[in-house]
Amino acid sequence: MFIDLNSVSNNSIEAKSYDFCICGAGPSGITLARKLATLGKTVALLEGGALEYTEESQEIYRGQSLGLNNWEAITNCRLRYFGGTSNHWGGRCSFFDKIDFEQRELFAGMSGWPAGSHQKMFKHLQDACEIVDIPRDSFKALPKSHWKGDFFRLSERAFSPPTRFRTKYIEELKRSEKIDLYINANLTDIRLHDALSAVSYFEVKNFHGKAHKFSAKHYVIAAGASETAKLLLNFNKQLPQGIGNQHDMVGRCFMEHFNVNFGNFVVEDHLLFKEPDLQFTPSETFMRKFNIGNAVLDFDANVRARDFGRLKELKKSAREFVCQSETMTNIARNFAEFDCEGDGVISSLIEQVPNMNSRITLNAEKDHFGLRRVTLNWQASPADDMTIRHLGREIAKELARTKVARIKLKDFILDDNIPIDDYGHHCHQMGTTRMSIDPKNGVVDANQKVHGIDNLYIAGASVYPTGGGCNPTLTLLMMTLGLGEYLAKL
Ligand SMILES: Cc1cc2nc3c(=O)[nH]c(=O)nc-3n(C[C@H](O)[C@H](O)[C@H](O)COP(=O)(O)OP(=O)(O)OC[C@H]3O[C@@H](n4cnc5c(N)ncnc54)[C@H](O)[C@@H]3O)c2cc1C
Repeated sequence: MFIDLNSVSNNSIEAKSYDFCICGAGPSGITLARKLATLGKTVALLEGGALEYTEESQEIYRGQSLGLNNWEAITNCRLRYFGGTSNHWGGRCSFFDKIDFEQRELFAGMSGWPAGSHQKMFKHLQDACEIVDIPRDSFKALPKSHWKGDFFRLSERAFSPPTRFRTKYIEELKRSEKIDLYINANLTDIRLHDALSAVSYFEVKNFHGKAHKFSAKHYVIAAGASETAKLLLNFNKQLPQGIGNQHDMVGRCFMEHFNVNFGNFVVEDHLLFKEPDLQFTPSETFMRKFNIGNAVLDFDANVRARDFGRLKELKKSAREFVCQSETMTNIARNFAEFDCEGDGVISSLIEQVPNMNSRITLNAEKDHFGLRRVTLNWQASPADDMTIRHLGREIAKELARTKVARIKLKDFILDDNIPIDDYGHHCHQMGTTRMSIDPKNGVVDANQKVHGIDNLYIAGASVYPTGGGCNPTLTLLMMTLGLGEYLAKL
């Protein structure tokens, strides 16, 4: 069933009771609701926004940035309407390597994934691929290649069309007999029972300010990494430090994947570069040897060099003339950023280690519902810099040795004393309610239940204790399917 909460002005919702109440209808919330429904459970799925983008809803995401690059991730990297951020995601899918589940020295004492996480999650790979429309066996279908590196392999990945959860699932949810989808339904508070160890109800407001009580046996927050932290920290009427925050862990260890531009390259092995979008992943041996994190290094060669501006034609002729000769090209490169066909820029997706100082906190400004807005302080650590530099130096050596490409690295890769000038990002928000066995190290347990609260769970990448070196969505779908299976048995 489909209900627009903006048009409910009476208290009729108080009379209903569900098995599950889920806040957030992005990939995590929609996947969990569908899974629970197929297992016979009733679900109230609450979406704060409407079915389409509205300024009124998106404005609630506005926040501040203090950290790296003053990056406006909080405001720009998320979409607040039905389907969530999948309304503009890119669709690149990949998954964690085995080494990513280990308790690594790299994490400097921060806990990693609970034992058994790998097996638990990968049981759901096939179903997760179907959700994002990746054909069966896509990951095995990497083109055969003659690449024979020591420290790097070609990255396994697949591309979703990209699936827009809004378009794909709206009709199914509207027709569902088990799921009630509410839009304009904003979680604004969580009321706990008197013993403060279980949720009594969700307070949910429409945009006219009317508050409704939603009751269920179990509750889940699936609002994305930044917003989930914002909500838990704001809900402090009964627990002054916020819900799940008894050890000051909510909002901590915000992680992204760094997108650092390592420099430029010139293709030598044209056969290898026939494969579209050549990407390399470090081997376990290499990561262990240098004690560094995981990554994908992306070598995107120009199919055709392009010129812009008023002098376009002149630049084009000059380029064509110079690019004919390697000697002339090398001379030209000494005084100009020069780009021939087959040249390219090296971009990256690099693991960020969990870092207590990289975090989300609340600031004094309030949103439409009176909740304090967030400040993001995104920080890199010396371990992250080490990962970035080792990856850059070794891929350059390996590609030169195998005569695949010649690389011109940026100075900050070669010299530890030159600060890394640009920590780019990917809009992959992870880690603010991390999973931990010991409540002192995180916010949820191995079953994604908030430590200390019997019937409150969190779905999505905010629970990742470490972020690996791959895009996050396929992993969060696998985990959410596992969570649904677990919850349905309670
Ligand atoms: C530009 C871009 C490109 C990306 N490309 C890729 C890619 O190629 N591969 C990949 O793996 N990942 C990619 N991602 C990341 C991907 O979009 C996210 O991993 C994914 O959307 C997370 O899903 P989610 O459901 O956990 O959170 P979200 O998609 O953020 O959904 C959260 C939902 O909760 C709702 N909500 C928030 N607050 C409340 C509230 N108080 N009450 C009720 N509802 C609320 C929101 O409206 C939203 O619908 C990309 C992201 C961006 C921004």
